[in-house]
Amino acid sequence: MNISAVLGSAVFLLGLMVGSFLNVCIWRLPDGEQVVRGRSHCRACRQTIPWFDNVPLLSFLLLRGRCRFCRLRISWIYPAVELAAGLLFLAVLNRFGPTFTALAVGIFGAALIVISVVDAQTMMIPDEITKPGLGAALGVSFLVPSLHGTANRWESLGLSFLGALTGWGLIFGMAFAGRLLFRKKLKAMGEEEAVGGGDLKLMAMVGAGIGSAKGLLVVLFLAPLLGSLIGLTMKIRFHRDLIPYGPFLSLGTLIALFWGDSIIGWYRGLLIGY
Ligand SMILES: [Zn+2]
Repeated sequence: MNISAVLGSAVFLLGLMVGSFLNVCIWRLPDGEQVVRGRSHCRACRQTIPWFDNVPLLSFLLLRGRCRFCRLRISWIYPAVELAAGLLFLAVLNRFGPTFTALAVGIFGAALIVISVVDAQTMMIPDEITKPGLGAALGVSFLVPSLHGTANRWESLGLSFLGALTGWGLIFGMAFAGRLLFRKKLKAMGEEEAVGGGDLKLMAMVGAGIGSAKGLLVVLFLAPLLGSLIGLTMKIRFHRDLIPYGPFLSLGTLIALFWGDSIIGWYRGLLIGY
């Protein structure tokens, strides 16, 4: 085995383990439970889960998706989150190499996974992630200036700060426009706002992590696109009107972090072509 295969496998395994921790956050944060303390329990029969039933992916496959004690189904979200985190870490290594930038993007992406799943399940974006996430994104921008393509720490921090303001401002503008445009429809649905307060904080965090107006435009271009594609499917299949926006903002953010420059380059090429 060559060195990059060993590194790749190690990073994938690390991602699976991180995914395991993300699952703890996903189930405990909305209930206001302690994330760090307390052993894991089966959500149906409350039995403590032994360590050998808590191995990422493997345990789910070996138990065929059922609790060892009460035989009730374990949510497929557990292995899906573990796999998503493993693949995210592998993709980050592949894109950014073994660098601090990769580490920062990996942690940022992990936070976005938690936000997406919690938002999809509860229609709430947890402040417990977005508030410290905003602080962490500003801090990491100062420590790892290469994240924003500069060598100057203060410039990087400034870009991150501007990004947070821009992200917040763009969503605030959209919320304002949405309220003017869809007032009747929102009232009929019993909703006050087209965009929730959680989305504002999420976009401030995303802006601080991306640190450029161009990158944010990629996010805001992709998120509604992904949202309307999937939203339309949900509306037809499940007759659901309200769809959480967090997963689409998160997915758009990851795409922008990975391929933002290429997307902007491609779009420029289109403009010059005409
Ligand atoms: Zn059980």
